[in-house]
Amino acid sequence: MKLNTSPVTQHIFRNHNFYLKRDEQLHQHFSGNKARKFMRLLQEDYSGIDTLIGYGSIQANSLYSLAALCKIKKWKLEFYVQRIPNWLKEKPSGNYRGALDLGAQIIECSNAFGDEMTPAQYIKEIRNPQANCLVIPEGGRSYLAEKGIQGLATELLDWTRYKPNQQFAIALPSGTGTTALYLHKHLKEHNLPVLTCACVGGESYLREQWQELGEDDTPTILHADYKHHFGKLYKDEFKIWQDLEKNTNVEFDLLYDPYMWQCLLPWMDANPDVCILYIHQGGILGNETMLSRYQRKFEPDTSNSNTQIIAR
Ligand SMILES: *Cc1c(COP(=O)(O)O)cnc(C)c1O
Repeated sequence: MKLNTSPVTQHIFRNHNFYLKRDEQLHQHFSGNKARKFMRLLQEDYSGIDTLIGYGSIQANSLYSLAALCKIKKWKLEFYVQRIPNWLKEKPSGNYRGALDLGAQIIECSNAFGDEMTPAQYIKEIRNPQANCLVIPEGGRSYLAEKGIQGLATELLDWTRYKPNQQFAIALPSGTGTTALYLHKHLKEHNLPVLTCACVGGESYLREQWQELGEDDTPTILHADYKHHFGKLYKDEFKIWQDLEKNTNVEFDLLYDPYMWQCLLPWMDANPDVCILYIHQGGILGNETMLSRYQRKFEPDTSNSNTQIIAR
């Protein structure tokens, strides 16, 4: 199975012209940067493997992407989480529901052992995977990801070659930073800078992740004038997400993209000669739960809310 190259669309936001690499459109279920990171698993032959083992947050985009990958590969997916809230078990939503629908087996590590064991420890000590299993680090932070992300870098480069007179910069938000790091590695010699921001754990956490992947040369980290905490709700970020959707007709991810835009807009003001090529990294299914959290917090009296997710 080979995925098609994703398209690039052109938009204007707050008086800035920018281009958008539509990686959320790679495949119905297997899309965004998780698809790039796990592409090698899709394309290469792993004889003897019949089970993929992952772990992380119950609403992780990687859970849904791994479930899609396993469906395509006819592998079993075991995904280990600390705990599944009862309300979610009763009414599954977002990436959790999507993964269940694709046949994922989602296992709580807190059942028998309290919270003393992390999912990673549980897998190692209790599950004890044999040779038929492949264990994927949380969020796909792995050398395994480089090849698929290099594929994205090649597509970006091929596209910019049609506009030789324009200076571009690539922009994308970081969680583990794996995507930004490998893009930078494969684009720097072509004079295509990579701009990112630290959505999880701040700049020091991001630099640690990069160090663990063994690369010294790293992307540029942009900042906003406030500290961003992962998963927390910010009124200004919700506003920018709504405005983005209004102006571009594109639904962006609610967990990472709004903070990136908060960091990026001042950079665009300061660098009017550089055109942004923004990477849409997927995550749309996860918006279901984020959006209802936002609406409960900031639009509590609009029972019939104006904010609607674009039909997909
Ligand atoms: C996972 C994810 C990220 C973060 O990717 P990293 O490679 O971990 O930095 C950003 N945006 C979306 C939508 C994601 O799913």
